[in-house]
Amino acid sequence: MLEIMNLKKSFGGEQVLRGINLSLEKGKVLVVIGPSGSGKTTLLRCMNLLETPTEGSLSVGGLRLDFSPGQKLGRNDVLSIRKRTGMVFQSYNLFPHRTAAENIMEGLITVQKTGKEQARHHALELLQKVGLEDKADAYPFQLSGGQQQRIGIARAVAMDPDLLLFDEPTSALDPELVGEVLKVIKSLASEGRTMVVVIHEMKFAEEVADQVILMDNGVIVEQGTPQQVLRQSTNERTRSFLSRLN
Ligand code: ADP
Repeated sequence: MLEIMNLKKSFGGEQVLRGINLSLEKGKVLVVIGPSGSGKTTLLRCMNLLETPTEGSLSVGGLRLDFSPGQKLGRNDVLSIRKRTGMVFQSYNLFPHRTAAENIMEGLITVQKTGKEQARHHALELLQKVGLEDKADAYPFQLSGGQQQRIGIARAVAMDPDLLLFDEPTSALDPELVGEVLKVIKSLASEGRTMVVVIHEMKFAEEVADQVILMDNGVIVEQGTPQQVLRQSTNERTRSFLSRLN
């Protein structure tokens, strides 16, 4: 479902991703961990072309793109990758003047050309799935951070993407609201959604990930099962990162 080969990204003269290789099968969950500034968000943003990689290749749901320095991407390539991916942002990024249901309906109506009534029906089903069926007509400012993030997740799922991307989905939340969001992400994993999750919750990584990668300074330092990376690693950089979390 996802394959990344020798992916590099520079901003100006600074190389932020320095040759990333990874692949993820359909239905699997990849958790990305690593210190701040190591390139996790940039890697995730390259997966849906919010950032254009400088070099390497990216393949999502069978569509493969190759990048070379200075290359401009075609609009169709960008749209095709965007259709295959759904992003959940740290800061939710809901439309403030739209209700919960309208936020979920937006992409269905504008991108998928679903009729308004059918889009609302689907939005209500998704709201039920994330436990917010009674908030369909509430505006973001009337909702807690955890509720807003659950709507952000429902909005991404509504488009039924091949790949769901989560960029630190709980790090803007008060601690007591983290659990309700993790529960929704877990339920998506158990439904067989293919997901890449950048997150600092190690317990979640242990329970949900099929694969964990640890990034540092633009490279993958370590890659394996949660057990291998989080419990059994002898890599000094991994151990140092994990010990700082505790
Ligand atoms: P992480 O998610 O692991 O904290 P990021 O991917 O956000 O790391 O950032 C990696 C590095 O790339 C940092 O040094 C950051 O300053 C730099 N960076 C990220 N986005 C940009 C940008 N748009 N322009 C310039 N530098 C950037």
